[in-house]
Amino acid sequence: MLYRSTRGTVGANAPNFSDILLSGLADDGGLYLPTHWPFVPRETLNLWRTLSYPDLAAEVIGLFTEGCIDLETLRTMCREVYSQFDHAAITPLVEVEEGLFSLELFHGPTLAFKDMAMQMLGRLFEYVLKQRDRHVTIVGATSGDTGSAAIEAFRGRERVSIVILHPHGRTSDVQRRQMTTVKEDNVLNIAVEGDFDTCQDMVKAMFADEKFRNECSLSAVNSINWARIAAQIPYYIRAALALGAPDRQVSFAVPTGNFGNILAAWAAGQMGLPIRKLCVGSNRNDILTRFLLNNDMSVHKVEPSLSPSMDIQVSSNFERLLFEMLGRDSDRCRAIMQEFRQTGHMAVPHDAWKQTRENFCGLALNDEKTLKAMARFYRRSHYLADPHSAIGLAAGEHYREAGIPMVAAATAHPAKFPDAVKKATGISPGLPPHLADLLTREEHYQVLPNDLARVQEAVLAHRHNH
Ligand SMILES: *Cc1c(COP(=O)(O)O)cnc(C)c1O
Repeated sequence: MLYRSTRGTVGANAPNFSDILLSGLADDGGLYLPTHWPFVPRETLNLWRTLSYPDLAAEVIGLFTEGCIDLETLRTMCREVYSQFDHAAITPLVEVEEGLFSLELFHGPTLAFKDMAMQMLGRLFEYVLKQRDRHVTIVGATSGDTGSAAIEAFRGRERVSIVILHPHGRTSDVQRRQMTTVKEDNVLNIAVEGDFDTCQDMVKAMFADEKFRNECSLSAVNSINWARIAAQIPYYIRAALALGAPDRQVSFAVPTGNFGNILAAWAAGQMGLPIRKLCVGSNRNDILTRFLLNNDMSVHKVEPSLSPSMDIQVSSNFERLLFEMLGRDSDRCRAIMQEFRQTGHMAVPHDAWKQTRENFCGLALNDEKTLKAMARFYRRSHYLADPHSAIGLAAGEHYREAGIPMVAAATAHPAKFPDAVKKATGISPGLPPHLADLLTREEHYQVLPNDLARVQEAVLAHRHNH
């Protein structure tokens, strides 16, 4: 399987899976996609119905790693990764109301759906770095969620040093402690005296510093990495098969931020899964739902909400869908993206917008409606949903059709957002056993001033020490 950028042509030296795993973003600023979509015939889908989650994941991911990693190796990796999950079904499917299902993706080590892919990424990095005899330093900024999933996935991995910047004193206790109580010495947490934007700007500056970038062999594991999307496809296939696919259509509703999770559902459709509708759930940061309703993709200010992992205005993975809706025309895609960057308004051609609307719909809920939805699912079905998952369920409920199962992705464990859950339902959700002593574990982090040189020094020292 070879890959291409959304902003370039298919060259003679098209990269393979290992290349794009380590580089993340294409040199031309575009995002990688496979040169063609692998197609899974009906008979194969029927055979997949009896596979365990890890074995199904290996089959699906294997279509994208073809030529780089053999299936047996991949199967071993998947079995190891998903054995760390806290639920025997890995991604249990719960019927919340008749025909409305919650696909729980939060049974991994950090209680958020990011573990589903990030844990695989840790294994894949280790494998490819060994093959290529390389060592990388992963650097990232976090306001909470992504950082803990990345640290949990890369702690103790060979050939990887990881440094995560978080804003000092501005994360929740649980979120910070999920990062700072990790003991492995390839992990460095830096608390920067500033806000999340300060941290993010520092990471950008480190990547822009070519000498530093090469010296540390910097790498990123952000949500545009294709391997993360690939590792999110299996659970959609598994859920649909459990509900009658390929003989029956299924719809999905996904609480959406960077558009990575729902893009994986769309990709499953490209591979032959019969999908009826894809529903985007948003909070008050509703750029995607405005686009779907009125072709209005214009950037507003990011407003904080009860579902912070969706407090986003520019959904980076949307570029992949745009490219496809433009008939894979990379010149038009590049021009539209460049203009979007300059003006904050994306001029999506009418025909591409109309085509997007054939599959996608969207619903935005402000905080008040989110709390009401949480209370409603609890009252009617005793189902405790975190604010993100409740937005997915509410979008699914809104667009549900008779006779077609609607599956809503549940992306965080209710205990990750205890205050909102308590406010909506009166229930205080407890942390699962493996995190029960989190608040008393020893923390490890350095506090550094808002000074790029000092932070770079710390990153270099960490790389050399470990
Ligand atoms: C990251 C995240 C999302 C958004 O997923 P995208 O792939 O960025 O659209 C939704 N909910 C939770 C809890 C998350 O951590």
